Amino acid sequence: MAFNIAIDGPAGAGKSTIAKKVAKELSYIYVDTGAMYRAMALFFLREGISPEDEAAVSGACSRITVTLSNENGEQQVFLNGENVNGQIRTEEVGNMASRTSIYPKVREKLTQLQRELARTTDLVMDGRDIGTCVLPEAQVKVYLTASVETRGKRRFLELQEKGADCELEQICRDIKARDEQDMNREISPLRQAEDAVLIDSSSMTPQEVTEEILRLVKGAN
Ligand code: C5P
Repeated sequence: MAFNIAIDGPAGAGKSTIAKKVAKELSYIYVDTGAMYRAMALFFLREGISPEDEAAVSGACSRITVTLSNENGEQQVFLNGENVNGQIRTEEVGNMASRTSIYPKVREKLTQLQRELARTTDLVMDGRDIGTCVLPEAQVKVYLTASVETRGKRRFLELQEKGADCELEQICRDIKARDEQDMNREISPLRQAEDAVLIDSSSMTPQEVTEEILRLVKGAN
C-alpha cells in the first residue's frame, strides 16, 4: 500500500512550502489539490459562469478535464490539456475556487482523481479535506495553521516579491473571508481530523515544521 501524508489547513498557513519540502526529503510526489480547484475555477471564469449558479457550475464539470504532471518536483496542472500553472495563482482565481468548491459535482470530480493518485503513489497531498474526507486512511495527518496576521504578512511579502501592488489589510480581510467560506460550507468543510496532529507555524521556520512532520513519518513507519 502506498504511504500517504495529508496536510490540511487554512489559506496561507504554508502548506505548499512545507508539503514540497517534506516530499523532497522523502522522494515522494507532492500533490497540491488547491491547484486543481483553481484550474476548475479558471474554466468557470473564462466561461463567464457565476459562482452563485450551481446548475451552470455543475453542468460545466463534464466539459472539464484536470490532469497533473510532475516536472523536477514541481506540479504542473492542465486544464483540458492546457498547462495553466501560470494563470491560477491570482486572488480572483483563488476566490472563485473557494466559492465553487462548495458544490458536490466539483468536489466529487476532484476527490475521485485525488484518491486514484494516492492509491498507487507515495505522496504528500495538501488541501482542506484530505485527512477528513479524501484520504481518511492516510498514515500521517497534519493540520497546519498560523494566525491570520502571520498568514496575511506571508502572503503580502510573497505578492510584493512578485511585484504585485497589494495592501496588507486587504489581504488579511480576504484570508478571513476565505477561512469563513471554507470552514462553514456544508460539504467537506475545513476542519482538523480527529487523528491529525496540530502544528501552529506562527513562530516556526519552514525547516522546523518540516522536521516535525518527518519525525511523525518516522514514527508511523
Ligand atoms: O489552497 P488554495 O488556496 O490553492 O485553494 C483554493 C481554494 O480551493 C480554497 O480556498 C478551497 O476553497 C478550495 N479547496 C478545497 N479543498 C481542497 C483544496 C482547496 O475546497 N482540498
